[in-house]
Amino acid sequence: MATIERDYSDAKKLRVIVVGAGIVGASIAYHLSCRKDVAVTVLEQDEPCAGASGHSFAWLNSFGKDPVSYHHFNRRSMDIWDRFARRLDMDLDLHWGGELRWESTPERVEVLRQRIVQLQAWGYPIRIISSDELRELEPSLSPGPVTTASFSEIDGRVDPSKVIEACLQRACEAGTAVHTHTPVSKLRIDGRGKIEAVNTSNGEISCDVVILANGTAVTELAATAGVHIPQQHSPGVVVRTDPQPPILQNVSVLHLPPINENRHEIHLRQSADGTLAIGQGSQESVDQDDSQEHADDLLSRAVHYLPALAGARAIPTPVGYRPMPIDELPVIGFCAAAPNLYIALMHSGVTLAPLVGELATVEIVDDARVEMLAPYRPERFISG
Ligand SMILES: Cc1cc2nc3c(=O)[nH]c(=O)nc-3n(C[C@H](O)[C@H](O)[C@H](O)COP(=O)(O)OP(=O)(O)OC[C@H]3O[C@@H](n4cnc5c(N)ncnc54)[C@H](O)[C@@H]3O)c2cc1C
Repeated sequence: MATIERDYSDAKKLRVIVVGAGIVGASIAYHLSCRKDVAVTVLEQDEPCAGASGHSFAWLNSFGKDPVSYHHFNRRSMDIWDRFARRLDMDLDLHWGGELRWESTPERVEVLRQRIVQLQAWGYPIRIISSDELRELEPSLSPGPVTTASFSEIDGRVDPSKVIEACLQRACEAGTAVHTHTPVSKLRIDGRGKIEAVNTSNGEISCDVVILANGTAVTELAATAGVHIPQQHSPGVVVRTDPQPPILQNVSVLHLPPINENRHEIHLRQSADGTLAIGQGSQESVDQDDSQEHADDLLSRAVHYLPALAGARAIPTPVGYRPMPIDELPVIGFCAAAPNLYIALMHSGVTLAPLVGELATVEIVDDARVEMLAPYRPERFISG
């Protein structure tokens, strides 16, 4: 097999391969590239952002994240997002306007109130607001009856494609090699389970460490090194609209209650270019209808509460597949069965990208074990 050419002029550099150029792989590659003693190569089977990151709703939040340790994990990443953005110093369409929602039926009001109590106990700045404050925040809303409304003031949104582009550009400026349209088919291991090289469509490339950040495909590739990383099948749909004048004045993300008992709630955001993104249910809800009818239906539910959207056009978007570990918690760290294989697989990867990039770099380059990552180790899937 041919070998991909790369100039390792400094023989002492740690040669790290990152498989996958979604937001998680791109963040890790960027953070690694900030270290002088690391030679980073990113291998992407398609174009950057071709996977879940390109289908994401990209709400930066710690709202529905249980247990408390996972909530704090997401919160910590939210808290370092600004520093990450400042260091990248490029347009990311990052907006910190908070998240707004309300409910009017007794069952849904009760669920929301319980969640608010829980989040406040965990120190999350979410609060109940009056109908007047709701309308002040978003004057375009026509909310109908409001029993309980909440505002989660530290939530935000971002454009994952811009984040990935920024990470890869900064990483390349620091010497990282990015190979697109280069699928990794196999990890080649020595007798002790150590990965010596990865096989790609363009040849073999040797390495000291391999990071699997290839989303839903982590399971298949990890298996070639004898590592078991089980996932759930988790399709989701976020439709777009054509550009609209500014509809949302303040908040980054809106959750709108079901318009009737046959419909799910929807979530909605508007990007700087005026386009809106709309999904139904929660950020974890399974949805695989990418038809025009479904897109029109989601938009019509948004118009119900935001009449100014009446002239918008719904653009169906292909189904996206969430990287979703079987227990829904991240899988991060080196593997006992393949000691130089590092897994970075998670849902909420948009929220978590800055923190995971930072912590993975500490573990890989400094050979430390970050205590905060203890609940997320790959070893939890080794059956007894
Ligand atoms: C509908 C939907 C809504 C979501 N909403 C939110 C939200 O509101 N907030 C939030 O924080 N998160 C949300 N998420 C989750 C978030 O988008 C993902 O967790 C995140 O994008 C995962 O990023 P990643 O880099 O791990 O994976 P991906 O973006 O899937 O990237 C993996 C990359 O690996 C490449 N690849 C795969 N196999 C190979 C191979 N063998 N060789 C080389 N390259 C390979 C793929 O082409 C892809 O580019 C949502 C996801 C979806 C689908």
